Amino acid sequence: MAVIAIDGPSGVGKSSTSKEVARRLGYGYLDTGAMYRATAWLCLNRGVTDPGDVVELVRGAELEISTDPDAFSVEIDGIDVTEDIREPQVAQNVQTVSGVQDARDELIERQREIIAQTTPGIVVEGRDITTVVAPDADVRILMTADESVRIARRSQELHGTADAASLEATRGLVADRDRRDSETTSFLTAADGVHTLDTTNVSFDEAVEAVLTLLEGTSS
Ligand code: C5P
Repeated sequence: MAVIAIDGPSGVGKSSTSKEVARRLGYGYLDTGAMYRATAWLCLNRGVTDPGDVVELVRGAELEISTDPDAFSVEIDGIDVTEDIREPQVAQNVQTVSGVQDARDELIERQREIIAQTTPGIVVEGRDITTVVAPDADVRILMTADESVRIARRSQELHGTADAASLEATRGLVADRDRRDSETTSFLTAADGVHTLDTTNVSFDEAVEAVLTLLEGTSS
């Protein structure tokens, strides 16, 4: 069973690349960020902010996430939050969960269970997959891109355009979240044995091909 681990900051193109790689290989796809977002959504919904209470809530949460790259869905405690977790408010509050180590440990354990159960392989994306969740993955990649490019990509995603006003609105979101995420996970430089895939001047198709080529390299 093959595991492809992909880390990187926001707006770098991890999700779209990971999904396409999974489709081409007939693999599953795990968006670990969605697990942090769904549990953060639950904390927001319940008004929970105290780290001890956050850990308790995360440990007790029933979390169902699909691993089908063509049909993404996530449910928490029986509530479908597939759409809601993309709200800016969730992204702004996600560190309520991702900044608390015991809450991370709980989600990491669940991620490892999903990885172990998914055949014939899985593409897993996040911030700490190559280093913590699946350091033994067959292929480990850190995707990077210049910040201005990442802001433009995220702006396109959120606003459907990358005009000056949208770029300005997106800049703070991207930079601020990366800065806060860097306090708990290390995803800006590649760890030993992790390939860096800089997508600043690389098209989507080229990024997908690069990942597939790295996987082929492991079987030869
Ligand atoms: O990838 P995405 O932007 O959906 O991730 C949302 C948030 O979840 C990140 O900003 C980060 O705080 C957290 N995260 C994490 N570790 C991961 C994946 C996501 O801390 N493996």
